[in-house]
Amino acid sequence: AELGQQAVALLAQVRDVVVEHEEELGKLDAIAGDGDHGIGMRRGVDAAAAAGEAASGSSVARILLAAGEAWSEKAGGTSGALWGSAVIAAGQALGNRDSYTDADARAAVTAFANAITELGKAEPGDKTMVDALLPFRDTFLAELDGGASANQALSAAAAAAESAAAATADLRPLKGRARPLAEKSLGHPDPGAVSFGLIVNRISQFID
Ligand code: ADP
Ligand code: MG
Ligand code: MG
Repeated sequence: AELGQQAVALLAQVRDVVVEHEEELGKLDAIAGDGDHGIGMRRGVDAAAAAGEAASGSSVARILLAAGEAWSEKAGGTSGALWGSAVIAAGQALGNRDSYTDADARAAVTAFANAITELGKAEPGDKTMVDALLPFRDTFLAELDGGASANQALSAAAAAAESAAAATADLRPLKGRARPLAEKSLGHPDPGAVSFGLIVNRISQFID
């Protein structure tokens, strides 16, 4: 149950960082998309944090299942479906245990990333959140392979995600609603990549 409390506290952090950046994310999505990434993420994380809280006391898997379902349902939009399924997949990988090892962290990050690439089918370079997600996953796994602690690996992976998100400014969108306005998007980072970078950085700071 203590691990469940940590999962609930972590969801509250995710909610807070999205709320802090809601306006910025909306403006970014308005450049070449439909402008709803801030409000959509806000609805998703509000619902996810509330559902996680309501399930606190149960296993991490159940808390993340409730949170992910609520996120998908309330966010609307592509990013909500992707985040919801990824949160659920990470929860399934973590299951119901008394403590977690580096192997569990690897499994959770891998399952989170697989859920997004399987559902969204975006390729690296398509200018989506995948362009921040894959550097995050790859850095996390490589750091653990190199002997880093899970916290060190998370911190390096979050930094990699943030710079990869910024680097999407140079890409033309090939997936999602921003595609028809690809030229307008040049010079601006992908909103979903930016929100991913913000969220994993907050999680890293919180866990550290
Ligand atoms: P919508 O595009 O439905 O309005 P949002 O504005 O909330 O949803 O989210 C847009 C973000 O979703 C994009 O910036 C991009 O990062 C991400 N995205 C869109 N399509 C895909 C996809 N197929 N795979 C991964 N991410 C995607
Ligand atoms: Mg949008
Ligand atoms: Mg939309």
